Amino acid sequence: MPFLSKAVSRIKPSPTVAMTGRVAALQAEGRDIIGLSAGEPDFDTPAHIREAAKAAIDAGHTRYTAVDGMASLKQAICQKFARENGLDYTPDQISVGTGGKQILFNALLASVGPGDEVIIPAPYWVSYPDIVALAGGTPVILPSRAEDGFRITPDALRRAITPQTKWLILNSPSNPSGAAYDAEQLRALCAVLLDHPQVWVLADDIYEHLCFDGFRFATPAQVEPRLRDRVLTMNGVSKAYAMTGWRIGYGAGPVELIRAMAKLQSQSTSNPSTISQHAALAALSGPQEFLQGWRDDFQARRDLVVAGLNDCPGIDCPVPQGAFYVYPSIRAMIGWRSPAGTPITDDEVFANALLDEAGVAVVFGAAFGLSPHFRISYAASTDTLTEALRRIRAFCEGCD
Ligand code: PLP
Repeated sequence: MPFLSKAVSRIKPSPTVAMTGRVAALQAEGRDIIGLSAGEPDFDTPAHIREAAKAAIDAGHTRYTAVDGMASLKQAICQKFARENGLDYTPDQISVGTGGKQILFNALLASVGPGDEVIIPAPYWVSYPDIVALAGGTPVILPSRAEDGFRITPDALRRAITPQTKWLILNSPSNPSGAAYDAEQLRALCAVLLDHPQVWVLADDIYEHLCFDGFRFATPAQVEPRLRDRVLTMNGVSKAYAMTGWRIGYGAGPVELIRAMAKLQSQSTSNPSTISQHAALAALSGPQEFLQGWRDDFQARRDLVVAGLNDCPGIDCPVPQGAFYVYPSIRAMIGWRSPAGTPITDDEVFANALLDEAGVAVVFGAAFGLSPHFRISYAASTDTLTEALRRIRAFCEGCD
């Protein structure tokens, strides 16, 4: 009898984390590698947030807290939802976890089991299908099309729903495509769900604050109040406040689900780091003006990267509305040979050849469920991006 469980054999390690590890290993060997595979802002956590964490330590806030978050932090999260999303939540409808990832993990483990289906639009964030599989459920991948801006259509959603569907996971702006749904597009999807009361919505809003060109962020619970008692709105401080390492995320939803998530958390991590909760409290209740500067910075980098990639033979890069990723197509390059002579048969071969021959690390599209594409994270300095684009262009021009 195998020692390892069936549950763990159903999942694979995160391919983005694996690529970041591979980059670090190659750099340690002395190779000149530009890593554009990691999904985290390159800014420092702002000083007022760091100071709040130091003050928390000195004030002795170093013990366990309530399982799913301190009362003061839950209050600040309620205020954030009211202020930024026009959503009225009470603290018993809030769960704080060790990153948005734990919120998703808790929600799916608390609600999904064998026979249950979860609709996941592709390209998707790599962890969704694996968490669903770990829970014993069935991920139902719903591909989007670049022509539709990587957004699923209401018709396609309607066709994907079955009596077994438990959740639709909506991530806007999206990792990896950067695509975002405006209020009207979300309302059209929500209208489909009104006919299917068994389907809940898991709204992953983690990139909310990274929307460009004046795009107005919207979220399902806000645009369709009739769905509110079956929406879990997930968010966190990782991407908005450059706090990936602090590990604080949160969710808002119906009390019954929130309580079940707390029960799971009480038997796993007990509570998210107390010191990080104090830092998150400072992030959510402190000044927000600096976010506009970060947004402008990211938008300028997006424009640089989109223009640079569209200058490369064989690459077609759409303009995303948000997040800090682009998801270009390499459809035209399939059948070409890399400068070193490797036949480019799919996006994984392309990404490996780009790493080996040009020293640029990206993540291949198959990891996100939609090929032939690759993902670049442009959360890097302009100099780094400019050099990466030069190398990618030389690689493409060297193909035949
Ligand atoms: N959701 C999406 C789409 C993400 O890209 C990430 C992180 O990469 C997360 C959720 C989880 O973020 P965290 O656990 O750092 O809050």
